[in-house]
Amino acid sequence: MKRTTGQNREITSKWRPATQAIRGGTWRSEQGETSEALFLNSGYCYDDAETVAARFAGEQQGMTYSRLQNPTVQMLEERIALMEGAEACRVQATGMAAMTTALLAQLSAGDHVVAAKAAFGSCRWLVDSLLPRFGIETTVIDAWDNAEWEKAIRPNTKVFFFETPANPTMDIVDLTYVCGLAKSHGITTVVDNAFCSPALQRPMEFGADVVAYSATKLMDGQGRVLAGAVCGTEAFINDVLLPFQRNTGPNLSPFNAWVVLKGLETLDMRAKQQSANALEVGKFMEQRVPKILHPGLASHPQHDLAMKQMTACGPIFSVVLDGGREQAFALLNALNLIDISNNIGDSRSLMTHPASTTHASVSDEAKAEMGVGEGMLRLNVGLEDAQDLIEDLDQALTAAGL
Ligand SMILES: *Cc1c(COP(=O)(O)O)cnc(C)c1O
Repeated sequence: MKRTTGQNREITSKWRPATQAIRGGTWRSEQGETSEALFLNSGYCYDDAETVAARFAGEQQGMTYSRLQNPTVQMLEERIALMEGAEACRVQATGMAAMTTALLAQLSAGDHVVAAKAAFGSCRWLVDSLLPRFGIETTVIDAWDNAEWEKAIRPNTKVFFFETPANPTMDIVDLTYVCGLAKSHGITTVVDNAFCSPALQRPMEFGADVVAYSATKLMDGQGRVLAGAVCGTEAFINDVLLPFQRNTGPNLSPFNAWVVLKGLETLDMRAKQQSANALEVGKFMEQRVPKILHPGLASHPQHDLAMKQMTACGPIFSVVLDGGREQAFALLNALNLIDISNNIGDSRSLMTHPASTTHASVSDEAKAEMGVGEGMLRLNVGLEDAQDLIEDLDQALTAAGL
């Protein structure tokens, strides 16, 4: 393999995000290919038996097996770490594999986790159903309320786990306060940054220890592959996360890693343009719906905090209709351009009814406490012309009696 400047941290860490997204982490083979090579292989061959023995003994650098190392996967890991401003990153098969790995790699029976009530459905399932089965205590709180974090701390609290903005209520967590509080108690913060990507928010700049991703969302951004990533210090990634990941195997396939590498090349542009479109569409929707939850609009109770932490509002917002499921479904079914789909971060505009889709696995009680009602709809604003989206929404709102 030929090294390029893309592998030289001293150089790449000084690049701005749009440059890192295109060139960060690049290795080139002896063919000198422009676009990153896809090493779609599981194993490696060696010139002699001594070489492989030395690699397994850790005495010589080099690949041994794709659950341990793969050149395409490593390019993606280096690129995400750079964009995040993290020392290290490991990628996983899906966002949920990333969340599970980030939590289970560091938690043991007897530990306690404080988590946000408002969260992606499967993240709530980890906290409510999986961790307690292994003797890990959990408490869920209103994460936008700083006072609740301190109240929930116990002597055995090991991890704070939350997303900001939260899916789908768009609650904002005060990163500086919550990460600072965690640090002063020796607690590790795990931030799910799927709604923003490093193009819009870099939680480590506000003190976060571990940033975890569904790379399925903005990083791929074109509805193709599932992927996940965990970023942290070298000590956390190499000594805590890696032993768990290498031996349990939630690895990302090299093909999917390659697709995400291609997605990252346009992440900065897409995130900015989708945010601009989401703001325009949000301003239109605000005049037609009884309630809108949009971090880019002054009507959001935490608008100032959101704009302090995020460089733009992101592509996602929610609305709440008074007519419950019937009215929400009527609006969805009247859409002509925007797809009914439960994904986010995509370059296509997509709309979903969280209560019956992304949060269907969450108990009715948990849905009620996090504010996911039957009248809620979540919109991911894509890269189409905002005016076409507004025209589609205009006729669908009318069809739903709004
Ligand atoms: C989608 C999502 C996940 C899960 O990611 P997958 O790639 O679908 O496994 C986790 N957290 C948040 C906030 C998400 O939006």
